[in-house]
Amino acid sequence: MNGRKQVAIIGGGIAGLTAAYYLQKEINEKHLPYDVRLLEASDHLGGKIRTVRKDGFTIERGPDSFLARKKSAARLASEVGLENELVPNGTGQSYILVNNKLHKMPSGSFMGIPTQVRPFLGSGLFSPLGKVRAAGDFIKSKGEAKEDQSLGHFFRRRLGDEVVENLIEPLLSGIYAGNIDNLSLMATFPNFYHLEQKHGSLIKGLNKTMPKKKQTKGAKKPSMFLTLERGLESLVDAIVAQLDEGIVSTGVSVDHIERKEDCYHLLLGNGTGMRADAVIIAAPHHAASKMLSQYDFMEPLRQMPATSVANVAMAFDASAIKKDIDGTGFVVSRNSDYRITACTWTHKKWPHSTPEGKVLLRCYVGKPGDQEVVDLSDEEIQKIVMKDLNKTMNITSEPEFSVITRWRDAMPQYTVGHKQRLQTIHAKMAEALPGVHLAGGSYEGIGLPDCIDQGEAVVQKVIEQLQT
Ligand code: FAD
Repeated sequence: MNGRKQVAIIGGGIAGLTAAYYLQKEINEKHLPYDVRLLEASDHLGGKIRTVRKDGFTIERGPDSFLARKKSAARLASEVGLENELVPNGTGQSYILVNNKLHKMPSGSFMGIPTQVRPFLGSGLFSPLGKVRAAGDFIKSKGEAKEDQSLGHFFRRRLGDEVVENLIEPLLSGIYAGNIDNLSLMATFPNFYHLEQKHGSLIKGLNKTMPKKKQTKGAKKPSMFLTLERGLESLVDAIVAQLDEGIVSTGVSVDHIERKEDCYHLLLGNGTGMRADAVIIAAPHHAASKMLSQYDFMEPLRQMPATSVANVAMAFDASAIKKDIDGTGFVVSRNSDYRITACTWTHKKWPHSTPEGKVLLRCYVGKPGDQEVVDLSDEEIQKIVMKDLNKTMNITSEPEFSVITRWRDAMPQYTVGHKQRLQTIHAKMAEALPGVHLAGGSYEGIGLPDCIDQGEAVVQKVIEQLQT
């Protein structure tokens, strides 16, 4: 032994790569006597981040962008030299498909909650009764203070079923790919709970707390998202390029973690083992619970659901689209007779992704209750998507090519009580497995910036623990 401490990072998705990057940075800057090794089961680094570049198109199989207001992703991209490649989304009208009809997203709403009354009253999305019920938010007393409740229950109580079904649910399930009546309010949007508790009304609370933007007539909507010119995988490549040689091993899975007297023993899929003083598990929850199968406190992660979706990107010549819609895309409400859940007109939202004169459409299938669609053949999935698109657009030819990606059990579901369960796991882990930590999309936020935050935060925990 050379007296240097070994840190193992399991999983080479964005959370694991971020942890490796910031840990190496700390080691170099503070001359810490630690060695890092990142073990990735597959042959590919980046986990859910996967970019395909083909015929001048930049196509994302997984995430396509990140929220600009959460700063960690743009900061990391800048640190690894991609500052000049950050691209804001093209803004334009977005739509919502309700009862088989496209409606403009009412302006002045935040995650479907109205902050301005006029666009909401003028919207064809809701019946007069639905509007009156939503206005009940101004007078309805605040709900009981509680540890958690479902997103669906919370919004239905405040704004009524219609606003939830025609606006909030399609927007939120676009992010979480799950049933909002099961998802946890506190693990997803705790700020809405606090707004209700503090202001007694979501609409009033949002109005008081949202930064007031100057409304100039005809001014462009501000961009909310950022991506990278050459695709999100360029972030993965740029992080990996900063890591010292020998840190990253691909094609090596960790099957089991065993606590030894004063360290951990990792049993690897290739039959060998590795000693570690600290372990960052940046793998999804089912994999994490398998590695620690001997611990009953991992049971909630074993039981934690994950849903499947398929992402369908289709490239066309612009002439194939006979009836185009001026906008960036739409989400679909459950009361529409559609199997797609969303469609982005990627060539408009991300013009850099598509060559001049071409069109790139990116759709999702796999809503709750229609998970089996993900297992159909590429031809069948494409047929379903084209049939749905042709209900609102007029596309006269088949795509020049398509890229279909199945994401099985890839969308972790933060169901009611997620935060409390995670707290218990963290506490029991700290006791039984000091120096072993969880980070990534299954735990404390699924967005890329959330995963980056977790990867960065876990580095500090590891250093503190190794220094004691
Ligand atoms: P992952 O990316 O899942 O990486 C985990 C890694 O661990 C994988 O590479 C896996 O192979 C490895 N691994 C698993 N088991 C083992 C083992 N036993 N040993 C070693 N390695 C192992 N977020 C956004 O912010 N914006 C978006 O637009 C967006 N869109 C999305 C679209 C889709 C289709 C999906 C699926 C997700 C999307 N997300 C989006 C969410 C975001 O992409 C993920 O939450 C995030 O990428 C997860 O990163 P991670 O590092 O936690 O996990």
